[in-house]
Amino acid sequence: MPDFSLELNEDQLQVQKWVHDFAESVIRPAAHEWDEREETPWPIIEEAAKIGLYSFDFVANAFTDPTGLLMPVVNEELTWGDAGIALAILGSTLGLAGIFANGTPEQLMEWAPQCFGTPDDLKLAAFCVSEPDAGSDVSSLRTRAVYDEAKDEWVVNGTKTWITNGGIANTHVVVASVDPELGARGQASFVVPEGTPGVAMGQKFKKMGIRASHTAEVIFDDCRVPGRCLLGGKEKLDAKLARAREGQRSSGQAAMKTFEATRPAVGAQAVGIARAAYEYSLDYAKERKQFGRPIIDNQGIAFKIADMKTRVDASRLLVWRAAWMGATGKPFEAGEGSMSKLFAGETAVWVTEQAIQILGGAGYVREHPVERWHRDAKIYTIFEGTSEIQRLIIARAVSGMHVR
Ligand SMILES: Cc1cc2nc3c(=O)[nH]c(=O)nc-3n(C[C@H](O)[C@H](O)[C@H](O)COP(=O)(O)OP(=O)(O)OC[C@H]3O[C@@H](n4cnc5c(N)ncnc54)[C@H](O)[C@@H]3O)c2cc1C
Repeated sequence: MPDFSLELNEDQLQVQKWVHDFAESVIRPAAHEWDEREETPWPIIEEAAKIGLYSFDFVANAFTDPTGLLMPVVNEELTWGDAGIALAILGSTLGLAGIFANGTPEQLMEWAPQCFGTPDDLKLAAFCVSEPDAGSDVSSLRTRAVYDEAKDEWVVNGTKTWITNGGIANTHVVVASVDPELGARGQASFVVPEGTPGVAMGQKFKKMGIRASHTAEVIFDDCRVPGRCLLGGKEKLDAKLARAREGQRSSGQAAMKTFEATRPAVGAQAVGIARAAYEYSLDYAKERKQFGRPIIDNQGIAFKIADMKTRVDASRLLVWRAAWMGATGKPFEAGEGSMSKLFAGETAVWVTEQAIQILGGAGYVREHPVERWHRDAKIYTIFEGTSEIQRLIIARAVSGMHVR
């Protein structure tokens, strides 16, 4: 048995096939319809729940795979089917990741299953960080959480924007400032459980792509949550704030911790879209004839295909490396999580654009999926940290300088 292998094990291959079959038979045939409808594809989420794919148990199992590869594999297969529907299925894992990153084991046990519910009683979760004036700069959050000691409650006020599942989620995990003077170090995460008064959906956004995934504002207006909803607990928060006030180094801020854990999975989603576009273009280029021969007979097209395949595979390798490093506790000394998301995101945009070119006019119209894949791909250079922010993280990591 060699020490090093890039082969998936039997269990991983089985899960990969199972998710792929669902993506091929259920998600892909529904993709065009839900893109046009721009609505949450409840029937598809229900199907996923019925077979156990949309469930806390499945996600927990994928999250805890010791090699780290299962989560990216699942993400790639789902988005290969369709990114919008995949995000409708995967959106709740963002809320879960927020709980996982900062919650105690007891809080995880209590709140995590509620992010998914059961096949008969589906639930959604959302992770609310971004605000109108705090996107890339997550240190400047204005949403405030104030402790009401008499009642042992936190009172949350503020507006979050661009939130996946925002306002339609049952559980909202929200990052708020508890001490604005401390910037990012004065922030904490809270679970806002189902039925809590003071949470409302603002505007729902009409988007360029991933249109089956719901994105909206969430408004917290004197929203009161019990003290136990503070992720990590009060004692830990007080200690963290005291350290910050003394000017000691922090071990990691609430929002950034979550993003670190989710970046390779997001990169894997981009790989799924890029792979779909590569495969489609390859088939098309072999079929389509001009000048009496298949267009792939021309180097101009064949070399595009070669570059597409190379970049898709390179993206996957970066994603797998970062996921493996995360799972095995290797430090991200060169921003490897960011590298995976940066490269895979930009690859997805590039590969889907090449796909449109290879299909010519057919690539530009909705009879073929490649224009949708291009629209979907673009979000991967924006959310979970823009490409510029990923480059900042990598540049800072490798240079040791506070590059701005
Ligand atoms: C469909 C969708 C779903 C989303 N889902 C969620 C969600 O579930 N939860 C959540 O909290 N957020 C979510 N977001 C928000 C997303 O993470 C932000 O849009 C993203 O972080 C960028 O923030 P911004 O839009 O405010 O852009 P800005 O921060 O205003 O950036 C604008 C431009 O300036 C660049 N820029 C900013 N600062 C620098 C710098 N220092 N150096 C170089 N360039 C810089 C950026 O890279 C970008 O190109 C979602 C967004 C979208 C569109």
